[in-house]
Amino acid sequence: MSNEREKIEKKKKTETEEFISGHISCLLTTLTLLFIPNTTKDDAFSKGEYANSYDFFSYEDLTDRNDYFESPARPIIPGSSIRGAIRGAYEAATNGCHPCTDGRDLCPACALFGMVGSESDEVHFDDSINKSRASRLMFKDAVPYELIEGSGWSSWYDSVRVLPILGAAKKPQNQRMQIRPVRDGKTFKFDISFDRITKNELDTLLSVLTFGGQNNTHAHKLGHGKSVGYGSVRITNTTVAVAHLAEDFNLLMQTQFPVAMVD
Ligand SMILES: [Zn+2]
Repeated sequence: MSNEREKIEKKKKTETEEFISGHISCLLTTLTLLFIPNTTKDDAFSKGEYANSYDFFSYEDLTDRNDYFESPARPIIPGSSIRGAIRGAYEAATNGCHPCTDGRDLCPACALFGMVGSESDEVHFDDSINKSRASRLMFKDAVPYELIEGSGWSSWYDSVRVLPILGAAKKPQNQRMQIRPVRDGKTFKFDISFDRITKNELDTLLSVLTFGGQNNTHAHKLGHGKSVGYGSVRITNTTVAVAHLAEDFNLLMQTQFPVAMVD
């Protein structure tokens, strides 16, 4: 292709392609018990009887806290857990990832979420590839969608329970862990920031988040104990704030809309 032709092709692309940045605000409701461990203490409720004994994930270091059973910490769902679940659903919706090894030829999931393991081996790739394999989505941690005063967070937790550890090959008592899950019917809120994605990628992401609509009956799966029915969550009430950018990153338009209005 001649240089002149290349220039024209490039110009055409600049004129037609539009990138969008912004954020999506979501609610996430637990449909079953949910468990993600706070690993700052691995004998939270008993010593030695189980392989591990964990409280639910929070920002608190439980090492020096003796009152976490009576006064549990504010439960948090790490953005990385949500990201993993949504990525899995996005891969399924866009025909999967094998996984991709070439930064110049990515599946739709790797193009949007970044290549699997791309955080660990950055040195070997040049800048243009780094850009293509980096994630353009950031998942914030989910926090309770409720202001708690007085009684604390106890009502958010179920009783301490025992879960099997999959794939464990030690003594029978070591194949189980003790945990305190969050109850079903609890609602969290979280944000996803997106940076220079296409309209098509945004539409697919929104569809994957809610499984196609606000009235769906499907659920995403998060955390531990999925095989025994834990971890079903539904994402709803999603609103999107969008800044439409041209390829030179000039702001074209800023809009905010609930997902139901996305066509
Ligand atoms: Zn891939």
